[in-house]
Amino acid sequence: MDLALTDDQRAFRQAAREWLDATVVPHRRDWDRAEQVDTSIIRGLGEMGFLGLTIPEEYGGIGGDYLTYAMAMEELGRADSSVRGIVSVSNGLVGKPILGFGTEEQKQQWLRPIATGEALGCFGLTEAETGSDAGSLSTRAVPDGSDYIITGEKMFITNGTWADVCVVFARTGGPGPKGVSAFLVPTDSPGFMRTEIKGKLGLRGQATAQLAFDGVRVPASALLGQEGQGFTIAMTTLDKGRVSVAAGCVGIVQGCLEAAREYAVQRTQFGRPLAKFQLVQEMIADISVDADAARLLTWRAADLIERHLPFGVEASKAKLFASEAAVRAANLAVQVFGGYGYIDDYPVQKYLRDARVMTLYEGTSQIQKLLIGRAETGVSAFL
Ligand SMILES: Cc1cc2nc3c(=O)[nH]c(=O)nc-3n(C[C@H](O)[C@H](O)[C@H](O)COP(=O)(O)OP(=O)(O)OC[C@H]3O[C@@H](n4cnc5c(N)ncnc54)[C@H](O)[C@@H]3O)c2cc1C
Repeated sequence: MDLALTDDQRAFRQAAREWLDATVVPHRRDWDRAEQVDTSIIRGLGEMGFLGLTIPEEYGGIGGDYLTYAMAMEELGRADSSVRGIVSVSNGLVGKPILGFGTEEQKQQWLRPIATGEALGCFGLTEAETGSDAGSLSTRAVPDGSDYIITGEKMFITNGTWADVCVVFARTGGPGPKGVSAFLVPTDSPGFMRTEIKGKLGLRGQATAQLAFDGVRVPASALLGQEGQGFTIAMTTLDKGRVSVAAGCVGIVQGCLEAAREYAVQRTQFGRPLAKFQLVQEMIADISVDADAARLLTWRAADLIERHLPFGVEASKAKLFASEAAVRAANLAVQVFGGYGYIDDYPVQKYLRDARVMTLYEGTSQIQKLLIGRAETGVSAFL
């Protein structure tokens, strides 16, 4: 693995940071307070290439490499995790499975609009009764002539109220993962209902929704992959999604480092800058080491993806470490800021609230440990 970035990678990163510093950072506190980002940002994310990063040029994307994708996610995470979620889900959790498992017709229909920000995607796996145990989901898709009729509900769906298309995981067969299929469902289909979930601890600018399908009719051409392949599609997609979450967490840690460093140098107590106190330096040093360690684990996983090598365990390690590091770093950054860290005049309070979900979604920390433990021992803790 070569840690030296190419000129193109450095240039993309610089352009991404400058654009986010100008377009997102000045507004993130207001969006957080309003519990709604300005959705006109979505077109901007498309124009900047964020939404088409891993989509090939022939489908309207920029066909970037995976390390560039990880760096883009880091910059997005440093700027605002709510905005990062829009990109991670639409480009990553929806664009990528369409690219990997879709028919040519599905690719032509959805990839260009997703890459440009003309359309947004959401990923409907979790249900009220099935989170970590997603293979037991109960939404059903029943054949009816040449169509399927989908009935059920989904919970905690990122982009849910904004999306134009949803990858819906529904049961077409018997119990367990093998009975699950995936469908590309336009959200304006009759019977497709969505309700925004308010009052989240973090990611407050992000639309998170509860979805309900009341006999939603889709043609057989909406099936993504084969019948019974849905769980494999979900897990393959989430493996890559974990690298995206990990990279976003690196951005949180980096943002905490920059904020804490700057504050410690300019704030004085006892007649000297906070940075003069060794106990404050210790906190900043701990954040700095976490930033490097999380970034290296994330880049290793991204590098394996780029080279088409097995990466699932490395993605779990990166996601586990980086998400826990983001919580640790944001907590320490609040400590460096003292009382000012507790109010939202500075970004660290929001970093802490946003970081907290990272150890929960796309596989909790406990689930990552079970996946890593299974790889180490050859023994599965799952049924
Ligand atoms: C803001 C937000 C956005 C989200 N976006 C999406 C989305 O876009 N699409 C989507 O499909 N889902 C989404 N989710 C759902 C998310 O992926 C789930 O919340 C997550 O998978 C955990 O499921 P759960 O909440 O049902 O918790 P549970 O599975 O009930 O877990 C509760 C606790 O039990 C532990 N636990 C569970 N099983 C085991 C086990 N076998 N061994 C040890 N411990 C275990 C967990 O680690 C956790 O600590 C989102 C969630 C949030 C909060």
